[in-house]
Amino acid sequence: MQENFSLKPYNTFGVEAKARYFTEINTIDELKEALIFSKARSLQLLFLGGGSNILLTKDFDGLAIRLNLKGISEESINENEVLVTAKAGENWHEFVMYCLQKNFGGLENLSLIPGNVGTSPMQNIGAYGTEIKDIFVSCKVLDLENLELTTFNLEQCRFGYRDSIFKQEGKGRYVILEVTFKLTKKDHSIKTEYGAIKSELENLGIKTPTIQDISKAVINIRQSKLPDPKEIGNAGSFFKNPTIPLIQFEDLKQKFENIQGYPNGDMVKVPAGWLIEQCGWKGKQIGNVASHKLQSLVIINATGNATGKEIFDFSTEIINSVKEKFGIELEREVNII
Ligand SMILES: Cc1cc2nc3c(=O)[nH]c(=O)nc-3n(C[C@H](O)[C@H](O)[C@H](O)COP(=O)(O)OP(=O)(O)OC[C@H]3O[C@@H](n4cnc5c(N)ncnc54)[C@H](O)[C@@H]3O)c2cc1C
Repeated sequence: MQENFSLKPYNTFGVEAKARYFTEINTIDELKEALIFSKARSLQLLFLGGGSNILLTKDFDGLAIRLNLKGISEESINENEVLVTAKAGENWHEFVMYCLQKNFGGLENLSLIPGNVGTSPMQNIGAYGTEIKDIFVSCKVLDLENLELTTFNLEQCRFGYRDSIFKQEGKGRYVILEVTFKLTKKDHSIKTEYGAIKSELENLGIKTPTIQDISKAVINIRQSKLPDPKEIGNAGSFFKNPTIPLIQFEDLKQKFENIQGYPNGDMVKVPAGWLIEQCGWKGKQIGNVASHKLQSLVIINATGNATGKEIFDFSTEIINSVKEKFGIELEREVNII
């Protein structure tokens, strides 16, 4: 247990914030001990994975617990399917690479997403046409209300777009300890439709892609357009893509004929990056904070010296200007602490 501990190395924005107490746990027993410590002192809790989806806006007056549970196991279901279970502290991308090395399919489109396996259900991580709900079977959690272990299946997780029960009514109640996925061993479903995957495969000269080729293409695309948090502080997409009623979209189309939208029933998903760009934010810097020059949805710690509060205020200005121009209220994807 450490006191007045700097969380700067534990958040990919690289902002300074101190935790009153900090500990790293490697076993469930250690986790329970830490919880007893916090209960005795009535401390608030903050669970940390890779810190790639949080913005620390101030010092944390409680106990920050870094979940370092490790281990991967497999159980064959039949000739074509396998269940793979990874503990919360496994790094997501390393887990994807581990599965690809074994030729297990299903995770390849989710290559290079930062963070840990245990956090992947929080916002149903997704990229390039896949979300974890597509291969998710269950997750084991510790219920902080009664310290009992329970298992959530796919339905109970109530996954949505960057959403789950763990971000809604279960927020702060459950610690995810391990996640189980169902992957394919040979009849892989190859998804090339989304984003620039097809053209990247062409660049690589690949006509009949394997799951490993898809992963390579996704990695190349991501590296070409997203800032590496090791070099420049960021948390990926700062905002969710808003979903608006079709009627509102049609109204906007009259005024802004280039507005893009992806219809889903009587709702339309609008790319937040486009809205932000139209308000003149792409590449714009105020003090230590900027919107990334290639992807305006990504807010960066441009000088490395930004505070969490500065980044938060910058995001509020973006929300206000999008609201003023389009009447659409952007929602932050990043967890504000
Ligand atoms: C460059 C970049 C690109 C990104 N691209 C994508 C993308 O394509 N798609 C996507 O979906 N996301 C993306 N993200 C966001 C981020 O990688 C994911 O949300 C990831 O799952 C966060 O994992 P983490 O372990 O770093 O979470 P953290 O930031 O450590 O935690 C996030 C939240 O979950 C809570 N938490 C953490 N672990 C647990 C646990 N085991 N149990 C309960 N609560 C927990 C924390 O308290 C916090 O509220 C990107 C981020 C970056 C920096």
